[in-house]
Amino acid sequence: PLGAPILEVEGLSKSYGGVHAVSDVSFSVRAGEILGIIGPNGAGKTTLFNLLNGLVQPSQGSVRYEGQSLAGLRPSGICRRGIGRTFQVVRAFPRMSARENVVVGAFVAHGTDDAATRAADAALAQVGLSHRAGAAAGTLTNRELRLMELARALAAGPKLVLLDEPLAGLGSTDTEALIAVVRTLPSLGITVVIIEHSMPAMLGLVDRFLVLDNGRLLTEGPPQEVLRRPAVVEAYLGRK
Ligand code: ATP
Repeated sequence: PLGAPILEVEGLSKSYGGVHAVSDVSFSVRAGEILGIIGPNGAGKTTLFNLLNGLVQPSQGSVRYEGQSLAGLRPSGICRRGIGRTFQVVRAFPRMSARENVVVGAFVAHGTDDAATRAADAALAQVGLSHRAGAAAGTLTNRELRLMELARALAAGPKLVLLDEPLAGLGSTDTEALIAVVRTLPSLGITVVIIEHSMPAMLGLVDRFLVLDNGRLLTEGPPQEVLRRPAVVEAYLGRK
């Protein structure tokens, strides 16, 4: 059962010179939902995440989280409010252990070393990576790195996580393992917004799709229905 809106985005825009990376985008996400964001390369998906977590300031528009505006907050402040995020390219400290890498994520929300370490260990357990906690990040497989990246976001205790292509570079077995972990998040009280190109993985995971194209919100709705819409088919297949 989905709850009240946890995130409300209204008229959000970001331009770089003449490029409208994100253009007048409005949508909301309900607590407990898994929302997929799809769209061709350059559609504005990552820029949208950068706007939501405060890495980039909007040219126009607003973001409300749990009913409160996030205007002017920096990424650390937004993280402390409860929005976590992973990145398309995992940047790990290769000689530090997986646990230490996750502790770095936990520090934003936890004041002491002890609390941050406990949160990191809990997050590593949530993603099934406890057995690799002591391994240097540089020795982890792709799948383990993706799980570590997810744990880093979870260690700050988010109620909403933004996952930017968490399956990139993974084969089908690893993809299924990652998806299985993502699917557990709503039952832990964590709402999910996920950017992902792998359509088979998304179809079995998300409650709803947002489709971005050229910075604009093309359409939204249940996965099977959205993929049949002519505008979506054209955005994916009708050009190039
Ligand atoms: P992909 O699927 O390839 O990751 P995307 O949907 O995430 O693409 P964005 O990376 O958000 O798309 O880019 C949207 C548009 O904004 C692109 O045209 C991109 O070149 C432009 N853009 C993004 N960031 C910047 C920036 N810092 N400076 C200038 N242009 C930018």
